[in-house]
Amino acid sequence: MDRYRTLILLTGLWLLAFGAQGAPRVVLGDGDIELTDFAIGYFVDQSQALSYPQVRSQTFTETGNRTTLGTNARVTWYRVILDNPGPQPRTVSVHLPHAYHVQEVALYEEQGGRLVRDEHLALDEAADSPLMYRGVVVYSLTVPAGASTTLYVRSHSYSHQWFALEILDQDHSRRALMGSKHDIALMVGMMLALVFYNCLLYFATSKKENIYYSLYLISGLVWIALSYGLVASLFNAYGATVFQLNMSLITMPIFLLLFMMSIFETRRLYPTEHRCLQTLLVLLLATLAYSVFDISGALKPASSLAALMMVVTFSVSISLYRKGNPLVKFFLVGHTFFVVFNGIAVLFYKGLIAPSYWSSHGVGIGIVLEALTLAFIISYRIKVLEDIRASQDELKKQAATDPLTRLYNRRYFHSEADFLLELAKSRAEPLSVLVVDIDHFKQVNDSHGHHVGDQVIVRLAQVLRQFSRSNDLVARFGGEEFVMLLPNADRAEAEICSERIRAATESLAVAVDAGTSLRFTISIGIAEVAVGQESIESAIKRADRALYRAKRSGRNRVCVDLPAPA
Ligand code: GH3
Ligand code: MG
Ligand code: MG
Repeated sequence: MDRYRTLILLTGLWLLAFGAQGAPRVVLGDGDIELTDFAIGYFVDQSQALSYPQVRSQTFTETGNRTTLGTNARVTWYRVILDNPGPQPRTVSVHLPHAYHVQEVALYEEQGGRLVRDEHLALDEAADSPLMYRGVVVYSLTVPAGASTTLYVRSHSYSHQWFALEILDQDHSRRALMGSKHDIALMVGMMLALVFYNCLLYFATSKKENIYYSLYLISGLVWIALSYGLVASLFNAYGATVFQLNMSLITMPIFLLLFMMSIFETRRLYPTEHRCLQTLLVLLLATLAYSVFDISGALKPASSLAALMMVVTFSVSISLYRKGNPLVKFFLVGHTFFVVFNGIAVLFYKGLIAPSYWSSHGVGIGIVLEALTLAFIISYRIKVLEDIRASQDELKKQAATDPLTRLYNRRYFHSEADFLLELAKSRAEPLSVLVVDIDHFKQVNDSHGHHVGDQVIVRLAQVLRQFSRSNDLVARFGGEEFVMLLPNADRAEAEICSERIRAATESLAVAVDAGTSLRFTISIGIAEVAVGQESIESAIKRADRALYRAKRSGRNRVCVDLPAPA
């Protein structure tokens, strides 16, 4: 045991002499190795040109094994020393789980101050490298018994430097590689389901906002899948091949703006706000065009534009809210989620806050929460549109019906009667008209009051409805006079129907006061329309004449107007 201690001491002294002063050390114990939370050293190479021997003598700063250093650390070296105090050599897998998003990775393994192995991985060619497994660089090394191994990792990122390093034994390494990215797959799957649902909605309603929303979701899910390593894990694609997909970071706000314009109808209802959104849209479209040629260059203004975007969309939303738009409050809630979580993420990417699940996944969480709120807005809008349609239907119905009896009024009767006449003509079917009038109705009003008169009118309307077929047209023409149009009924059939109505009315008792009831009768005049020869008005006039005869010959009867002999 003492031998090991002396060895470690000597190694420490040696390292002290050769520039690895105070470097964090990791001790590999006897049992399982699952090191996911420990300290490492880092050194930012601003020149981006230092070689491994030059870097060895630099001063390394201590940081966690998960770290974020912002945009000014594009080339960063990390160093970790692995001590094996035990009597057996230990083989471990060093994982770099965020390797998929960088440009290049290099590893230098050093034992006893000598370089024993080095590996260089350009992410453009990573798909075929044995070091790369589903977006994770896996480097195996063996630390001899009682010895130390120093590992240097050079990470060259495209823009932001965020990094993680884990040390695992074979078993834990296998498990970590199998069980990764489920959370990201869940986020992406949820968004895909929303895309699918919105495409269906578009086919049902042809509303453009569903398309914009779908495209916004697709942009979001592409970015999430790319940035959180799902693309790497699923498609084994890295480097320049997939870097262009970062365009989704520009298309996402573009489709969000189009969505806002469409769902809030800004062009029609809020011209000032519309112009603000339009201006921003033009800037974003210019950036998008630029990104086709130089995505790295385009991403620089994209982050400033994103900040401007949040300010503009927030101001516009607040303005619409003050103007009383009913949907915008939900949008504000969703957008607040987006802004808060993205704010946290920006602090993480800039290296201003420590890495955690929430900070490193802030953008994705923000997008998903906003997407869910927007989905709610879409369904809420469907409800609002349905309510408007229902109230329009109700207004139409009110304009066509008589409020007392709920039968059609004279105006609706005429518009519909002409149609029924044309139908009868085209089908060569008979058509009859009935005019119904209450007998001595003035007396009802005089002796029982107007309200009882009204009740009588309502009861008669019920009888007419009860004895009419579904395609008969029943209308209150005014006062206590009703007109019915009976399609496919000749004079004789109209007479049978009229007689039924008359008899039913005669046997009706309308309750007046407690205990007393009132009986009343009606007279009906009938005319069969001379289809193709006369108008409905002319037929009604003839039915009126028949009604007059019924009144004169004693009331409570049905009379038919016989057409003048040809
Ligand atoms: P006839 O047998 O000859 O038809 O005699 P009548 O008394 O029924 O005479 P007429 O058909 O001319 O009666 C119309 C009366 O109906 C006049 C008016 O006071 C009454 N009236 C019209 N509209 C209404 C209404 O909406 N409610 C009530 N209670 N009465 C009405
Ligand atoms: Mg009358
Ligand atoms: Mg009358």
